[in-house]
Amino acid sequence: MNECVFCKIVDGEVPSKRVYEDGLCFAFFDKSPLAPTHFLVIPKKHLACAADITEADAMTVGHIYAVIAMLSRVLGFADNYRVVTNCGAKAGQTVQHLHFHVLAGKDFGSFN
Ligand code: AMP
Ligand code: ZN
Repeated sequence: MNECVFCKIVDGEVPSKRVYEDGLCFAFFDKSPLAPTHFLVIPKKHLACAADITEADAMTVGHIYAVIAMLSRVLGFADNYRVVTNCGAKAGQTVQHLHFHVLAGKDFGSFN
């Protein structure tokens, strides 16, 4: 039995505020937003973290970035957003299903 909360969100077993969905990916608002706009985009295929991405996933990962660019225009923050993927506990990953944070609506300044 799959206990992954993000797989359960994809399956509708755990409720979420959906932003977008297609055959490859699912986007939903983060429950603890860190910016005025903060949503997550995940592949529907379960991958534990970015370190598990292989060439077989290249199309899906590229597609996710294209979806983010599309949503940035639809939601009105095109050209001003940050995409973050934490991989591993020391990087701050708390959910073991690959996800891309999309943050917008504030001035983040430089990365450091
Ligand atoms: P990370 O720390 O990079 O693994 O990010 C996990 C993110 O998932 C956090 O920002 C959480 O607030 C978010 N999160 C965890 N569970 C849910 C949920 N059920 N619905 C929406 N966001 C969630
Ligand atoms: Zn999963």
